[in-house]
Amino acid sequence: MSSARINGNLAEREQVIILENFIRGEFVASENLGYINSYEPSTGQVWAQLPDSGDEEVCRAVTAAKNAFPKWSSLSTHERASYLNKIADLIEQRLDEFAEAESRDSGKPVALARLVDIPRAVHNFRFFASAVQHYISTSNFNDQHGALNYVHRSPVGVAGLISPWNLPLYLLTFKIAPAIAAGCTVVAKPSEMTSVTTWMMCKVFQDVGLPAGVVNVVFGYGGKVGEALVKHPDVPVISFTGSTPIGQRITAVSAPFCKKLSLELGGKNAAIIFDDVNLDEVVPGSVRSSFMNQGEVCLCSSRIFVQRGIYDEFLTKFTEAAKKFKVGVPSDPSVNMGALISEQHREKVRSFIQLAESEGATINCGGDQVPECIPETHKNGYYLAPTVISNISDRSPCMQDEIFGPVTCVVPFDNEEEVVERANAVKYGLCAVVWTKDLSRTHRLARKLHVGTVWANCWLVRDLNMPFGGSKASGIGREGCKESLDFYTESRTVCIKLG
Ligand code: NAD
Repeated sequence: MSSARINGNLAEREQVIILENFIRGEFVASENLGYINSYEPSTGQVWAQLPDSGDEEVCRAVTAAKNAFPKWSSLSTHERASYLNKIADLIEQRLDEFAEAESRDSGKPVALARLVDIPRAVHNFRFFASAVQHYISTSNFNDQHGALNYVHRSPVGVAGLISPWNLPLYLLTFKIAPAIAAGCTVVAKPSEMTSVTTWMMCKVFQDVGLPAGVVNVVFGYGGKVGEALVKHPDVPVISFTGSTPIGQRITAVSAPFCKKLSLELGGKNAAIIFDDVNLDEVVPGSVRSSFMNQGEVCLCSSRIFVQRGIYDEFLTKFTEAAKKFKVGVPSDPSVNMGALISEQHREKVRSFIQLAESEGATINCGGDQVPECIPETHKNGYYLAPTVISNISDRSPCMQDEIFGPVTCVVPFDNEEEVVERANAVKYGLCAVVWTKDLSRTHRLARKLHVGTVWANCWLVRDLNMPFGGSKASGIGREGCKESLDFYTESRTVCIKLG
């Protein structure tokens, strides 16, 4: 394969794409740096290479962001919003190109990237372009002291944004859009496994004439680029989405600097299915919530609690539906599930399935073998079939730890109190799904489940106006309309004694 340096444009299919850092509005050749291979999960082949950046590149990017900050932060919100709208329009125009790249980078079906990932990235920019113009501060007249108080909010400064591989553009733009709308400038670091669409987006920034230095992107490993960003004294605010252990490390490393932190971390989410539901709706809903994006969504259900009266029927129907959830080559439009992100990750997922077997659990479908339907041309890709496990103890690591793959456990329960206690008995607290026709019960459970989001009779219905995030080991802080704009700004109370 030959390689191509084409600054933000996708090369011919046969060429390995060489990514460059994007600093001060320009793609910067990384002559002195080594390159990291990025694999196409559906084939196991190298398809892109990114610079193995470090402290020096991060320092350059932070300086660029710092220099751009005074002018960018003093633009009116209306002017900043107009750039966000232009970015949204251009990504939308290039939707097919972005969707194909996202699929090749992460292994997800192209159809999913076209339907969910890229439209959401577009929506993130449009949403915050509008939101920032409706972001008003509070005031209060204190009649005891005859003083008028109001809150002035100003952007914090240079924001360090670090994102994972599972929803690459979707999640990084959910940080970039509110940060620049609020007036911050940015140094972003996408996952080293899925950097291509971020690099393509840098070309969009150039094409819309976003002022140089407002968004800078440094590619590379988390331990080098991510950590350099977290330690940099001129980056007062860090927004991180990723695993709980790395979130803990970022908390420790940033502590001496007293940085503002937002942490969106892992999950071990419960779905709770009561015996009053219509299984014709709940079974497809649960298959989707378990296996969408190869089960590589932090919000996927991986523990399904089913009320005993309908347990056997649910398990049979759910297993049948999981078998029909088609795994295959991501470019095939009929495929529901593509390849996992890496060989290493597939091995981790497999090890959980093997552990469940060794504990005497039942593997109802799927398993640790490569599905037979994968064509010879893609045999080196990282595929696994949707796997349903039953007869498993709540104490098993498969019921306690985040697997982050197409594996879900189905267990029975008898009553409401018991299931709430069992659903809460994990270290994580990201989301839960409740399936029931009983509205009072929905409200009761919503108050008792220790999670950031409760979905009832649906899953992954997102309204960006609402706060999103996790409790316990699933994170600190919330992202959303007001929450994100609050995060990227600092409030100052102004108190004026009136005569
Ligand atoms: P990860 O924690 O390994 O990496 C996330 C990002 O952090 C990557 O860009 C990585 O390079 C960087 N990083 C690694 N070490 C670092 C360090 N020492 N300092 C700074 N940055 C560092 O996570 P992942 O494997 O990319 O993603 C999967 C995880 O993300 C899962 O746990 C999943 O639940 C979680 N996730 C959470 C949410 C949410 O909204 N709560 C959303 C998506 C994914």
